[in-house]
Amino acid sequence: MERGSLTIITGCMFSGKTTELLRLLIRHIIARQIIQLFKPNIDNRYDKDKVVSHNRTSLEAIVIPKDNPNMILELIGINTTIVGIDEIQFFTPEIVQVCETLLSKGVNVIAAGLKQDSDGRLFGSMDKLLIISNFITNLTAVCVICGEEATMTQWKLEGPLKTGQIVVGGSEDYDAVCHKHHKVI
Ligand code: ADP
Ligand code: MG
Repeated sequence: MERGSLTIITGCMFSGKTTELLRLLIRHIIARQIIQLFKPNIDNRYDKDKVVSHNRTSLEAIVIPKDNPNMILELIGINTTIVGIDEIQFFTPEIVQVCETLLSKGVNVIAAGLKQDSDGRLFGSMDKLLIISNFITNLTAVCVICGEEATMTQWKLEGPLKTGQIVVGGSEDYDAVCHKHHKVI
């Protein structure tokens, strides 16, 4: 069986990762491909069983516990040709083997995720996923301070509020900034 391909869509928050993931999936749906979309259960913004972009496009999604990505393999349908995964950086490291298994079954995987957290550190298993990927789309946002291309995510709130790498939030908590205006709080 022909090996599937892995596409990784990355970039900072608000760079359009989810919008691009949904765009790619919707064109496959229009061409009558069978797609399945998954997301980790850490993300309860907007809607629990949908993937919703910041500009409100959405598709139905299957919510998977972030520490049990193997469930994706159990839920995969026999006719599925494309698997979409949003917020892939939140899954535990087994997600890399899950992607490898899907690819070896001939399934194409399109996944969106942050490669850096708001301190600029590696997020989840994005290093390994980027290395095994066949196609990479690295998106940018607009720096809210100077209007240059933004490649970093800024945690907006001063003080001891941020606990650990995973704080789920939206535009109230995070901004997109260029590397010059990024500071670790
Ligand atoms: P991501 O999944 O990368 O966080 P989304 O696809 O959900 O991004 O949302 C992208 C949308 O976010 C843009 O189309 C725009 O409407 C909005 N947005 C909010 N803040 C910014 C910003 N600073 N720069 C660019 N787009 C922004
Ligand atoms: Mg997103």
